[in-house]
Amino acid sequence: PIQPRETLEAVDTVCPYCGVGCALTYYVDRERGGISFAEGRDQPGNQGRLCVKGRYGWDYASSPQRLTRPLIRIDAAYPKGPLSAATQENSTQELDGPGRKRGAGKGRKPGGLVPYEEVMPHFREATWEEALDLVARKLGAIYAESGSDGIAGFGSAKCSNEEAYLFQKLIRTAFHSNNVDHCTRLCHASSVAALFEGVGSGAVSTTYGDIENADVAIITGSNATANHPVASSFFKQARRNGTTIVYIDPRAGTVADHADLFLQLKPGTDVALYNGIMHEVIRLGLIDREFLTSRTSNYDELARTVAEYPPELAARITGVDVELIREVARVWGEAKAGVIYWGMGISQHTTGTDNARCLIAMCCITGNVGRPGTGLHPLRGQNNVQGASDAGLIPMFYPNYQRANETRTRVLFENAWGTELNPENGLTVTEVIRSILDGGVRGMYMLGENPFLSDPNINKVRKALSQLDFLVVQDIFLTETAEFADVVLPATSYLEKDGTYTNTDRRVQLGRKVFDPPGDARADWEIVQDLAQRLGLDWNYSSPREVFEEMVPLMPDYANLTYDNLGASGKLYPVEDPEHSDGTVVLFDERFNTADELAHLVPAEWLPAKELPNEQFPFVLNTGRLLQHWHTGSMTRRSFALDTIAPRAEVSIHPADAAELGLVDGEFARVSSRRGEIVLNVKISHREARGNVFIPFHFREAAANLLTIDEIDPTGKIPEFKFCAVAIAPAGDR
Ligand code: SF4
Repeated sequence: PIQPRETLEAVDTVCPYCGVGCALTYYVDRERGGISFAEGRDQPGNQGRLCVKGRYGWDYASSPQRLTRPLIRIDAAYPKGPLSAATQENSTQELDGPGRKRGAGKGRKPGGLVPYEEVMPHFREATWEEALDLVARKLGAIYAESGSDGIAGFGSAKCSNEEAYLFQKLIRTAFHSNNVDHCTRLCHASSVAALFEGVGSGAVSTTYGDIENADVAIITGSNATANHPVASSFFKQARRNGTTIVYIDPRAGTVADHADLFLQLKPGTDVALYNGIMHEVIRLGLIDREFLTSRTSNYDELARTVAEYPPELAARITGVDVELIREVARVWGEAKAGVIYWGMGISQHTTGTDNARCLIAMCCITGNVGRPGTGLHPLRGQNNVQGASDAGLIPMFYPNYQRANETRTRVLFENAWGTELNPENGLTVTEVIRSILDGGVRGMYMLGENPFLSDPNINKVRKALSQLDFLVVQDIFLTETAEFADVVLPATSYLEKDGTYTNTDRRVQLGRKVFDPPGDARADWEIVQDLAQRLGLDWNYSSPREVFEEMVPLMPDYANLTYDNLGASGKLYPVEDPEHSDGTVVLFDERFNTADELAHLVPAEWLPAKELPNEQFPFVLNTGRLLQHWHTGSMTRRSFALDTIAPRAEVSIHPADAAELGLVDGEFARVSSRRGEIVLNVKISHREARGNVFIPFHFREAAANLLTIDEIDPTGKIPEFKFCAVAIAPAGDR
């Protein structure tokens, strides 16, 4: 039963899931020792609203499966076999909380999370001293033998800004390596690359709430209702108030239900579509000549490229009706204020950087940057992917996107940190996996990342993780990746620590501690500091606040921010006058952040995806998220309400394709690619186009990334999660 509100303690914090970063209050029953309920707070970015994850998805923190003691591997032979076999046959775990039976879904096998009963006997409990000494000794020995190339660290976009800052500082100063990255590489790395090149900043140029000032908004490659639910409520509200919504996506996501114009393009044809739209905008004379002349460079080359993409050609490549392409060009070109929001349907392609370059050009040729209701907004995924990137958890950037291979930056940080730094860019997430297989990286520190489910082509990831000489994993659960660890360090959940988090809008907010950590689990920043000391670094931070105070002078975008002036709603950086201002909504009103202060227009030619369908693998696989689940499911699948609503993996397929293949809704299908196969339930859905199927990647027992391809975008180094060729066949009612 829920206790009366006045008997509960209210703790103001921020939702731990998506990049919207909704402000919320947990009402805590200290007597019973748990959260009774959550409520949205009135911050500009959510105005009291929460989606199902924020409202109900917090009980994972009290799961009996929390790690509470350091673990050391005792069985070198474990794990063995591919994930598909290990999980589909061995997922027998049934309890996700005291007295909670799982597995009620139709046709669902029980469990699907890491099989603890099977995994735990391969580890023994250890003291912190023993575990940290072992980690320092092993990583130190690999560094002594192989140098900085032998070590890599993956942090996480779920880390606070302070934790991300300390983690990258540790890898860079203890091991003199820039091999430090995180899941931004799997998310918006290509968008950031294009934005840096085009406008000189990887962050959004305006907020999602600014849609209220737009008369046209393009939302593309984003199933926002599932992935950024509260932001999508702003989109729907804007349409009710008169904003024209253009939705562009291969899937008819629920945003399509609220759009004025919906373009269901073929997967992987974005560049052709946007070139076709720009061709028509130019032909209609709807470009902003004054803006192009005074604020941009390279328009002539862009115009020459898009001249080769008349709408008729764009229509043939994309499958979109030519009149619809012309209509969007007219609507966009005539908009007084137009804004573009995009998601991973744009970024997670081998052409992800080109896709984003086109969106930048779309805004610039029509003068739609730097004013209210205009601009560029890649909807960031995790709650702190913006902040973790800002804090330098990237192999080619120090904090605040200062280039790691520039002497000026290196000297700045060498002076700040008191040690010599590596002058070369480091390896990205995907490059580290390749390097392990090539015998380069031998030791890894993984903080909160779960590449064994989140990376593409995970049989290759398994091979790589198995080949490491030493792997330390720091997490709150024994994740799929932790199964490969030599040492597992029990960390704190989001609810058990203080820290700052930066949302997709650039809003820096304070997350506040609700509970003490369970057992011997410790805050991530404390663990990183203890390890740093064992590796010979003189670190003596006493709190996250002290770390923040070190970061801010090194990060010009965060200038003027303090724990004390962030207040209840946080601030949108950059902030000139924190005492009297919420921060800056619209960037680039007078100049861009590039060296010449101009936006650089970069033309792109359309290229087909790397692995096209053929007779053997005739369908295109698209992967992504569900509303109720989050990434590799380690949190949401341990949240009773969320896992009860969405308990199983499903492959969504168009009714006509299902009928042709003899697939029945709710029964099983076998989906295979050149890299592996999985068996999961069928969901027949009009939201998929013919020839395409969709599988969420949250489910270990039907891991979508067994199928995906590890081809990457050459600039952003992001994998092609949105396109690979698969076959699908009935697998009966198992
Ligand atoms: Fe949390 Fe995102 Fe939902 Fe807001 S929209 S409650 S930040 S998951």
